[in-house]
Amino acid sequence: MKILVINCGSSSLKYQFFDMDSNEVLAKGLCERIGIEGSKLTHEAKGKEKYVVTQPMKNHQVAADLVIKALLDPEYGVITDISEISAVGHRVLHAGQHYSDPVIVNEDVKRVIRECFDLGPLHNPANLTGINACEAAIPGVPQVAIFDTAFHQTMPAKAYLYAIPYEYYEKYNIRRYGFHGTSHSYVSRRLIKVAGLDPNNSKVIVAHLGNGASISAVQNSKCVDTSMGLTPLEGLIMGTRSGDIDPAVIQYIAKKEGKTVDEVISLLNKQSGMLGVSGVSSDFRDVKKAEAEGNYRAKIANEAFEYRVAKYIGAYTAAMNGVDAIAFTAGVGENDHIIRSNVCKYLGYLGLKLDEEKNKEIRAVEAEITTADSKVKVYVIPTNEELAIAMQTLELIQSK
Ligand code: ADP
Repeated sequence: MKILVINCGSSSLKYQFFDMDSNEVLAKGLCERIGIEGSKLTHEAKGKEKYVVTQPMKNHQVAADLVIKALLDPEYGVITDISEISAVGHRVLHAGQHYSDPVIVNEDVKRVIRECFDLGPLHNPANLTGINACEAAIPGVPQVAIFDTAFHQTMPAKAYLYAIPYEYYEKYNIRRYGFHGTSHSYVSRRLIKVAGLDPNNSKVIVAHLGNGASISAVQNSKCVDTSMGLTPLEGLIMGTRSGDIDPAVIQYIAKKEGKTVDEVISLLNKQSGMLGVSGVSSDFRDVKKAEAEGNYRAKIANEAFEYRVAKYIGAYTAAMNGVDAIAFTAGVGENDHIIRSNVCKYLGYLGLKLDEEKNKEIRAVEAEITTADSKVKVYVIPTNEELAIAMQTLELIQSK
């Protein structure tokens, strides 16, 4: 069986096409600059040359049609008939409080995605456009929506409620939702498996550390808390996002700098985090290099990042009254052994003992990095959100 995975942004459409017998990527690509000048499709199929199409794409419909055409192309494609596409899995940002599992798209699901436009103003409209475009391009093929918020829907009220007047939760659904759900779900499942834990009696923490970063507490395979909130701005320090902050800072900056609330929120999303503190870059590799060259602000940016991750691990250990295993994942978590080591230095009180030599060697492969006598196991587990979406899509259509 073959599954197409689609991730639509406001002016982009990313895709990966999987053979689910081998979990192999047969083809992948990107349509960029949709709706603006300079639209381009870049398509790469296994064992074939890169294929680039530069032609105007006035909307996502044109982009989806080009993707299907590329998959069918006699020279660069990987299928000979569209009936070889068994289903399409769409990454969708926000389902509000509606779905905790993947769903086959119907009019009701589309209504929910539409109702959540306010909660995901940049992503949800693009995600819906992508679904409609695929429906038109390959009619009759099941379209599955996999929501970034779904995995976190099991959080209890004490974890998801903000301590603001309750009427705002009732009127506007203001609460913690959490994001990166597909990654937290996939990595926590892998972690429970490789650490030999009981899915129904285990306490694990997943640290998804990339440009966007979030952390979650997963008890008995269910999410009980996560660091991102109503939007992805809350929680850890990220590439350009501040993470946790005193809300009064927003008013203070707005007054001092003559900015609107929207402008300050944009500043907290786009010019803060590692970039804002270090003044060097939002990319962790650049900040690490600058620290090695003696840059003080780069050093405190790294220290603040590690400190916040460690504080969240401490908080989530308390939330679950213990922790059996911790996973590091995403760009930084999978690759940066120094950050992993520095975070783990805060956690000796848990009986966690990092195997420094092993930790140094591990990059982007699944492996344990603690010693045999460590009370808490730590693993590096590469995340693969596209494959996870394809697997969940397959699981759902096979269960129907
Ligand atoms: P996102 O999907 O949120 O854009 P990723 O999970 O792709 O983020 O992670 C990107 C981040 O990972 C970048 O800031 C990059 O610097 C960092 N990264 C990638 N490789 C390394 C490495 N070898 N050492 C340190 N950081 C790395």
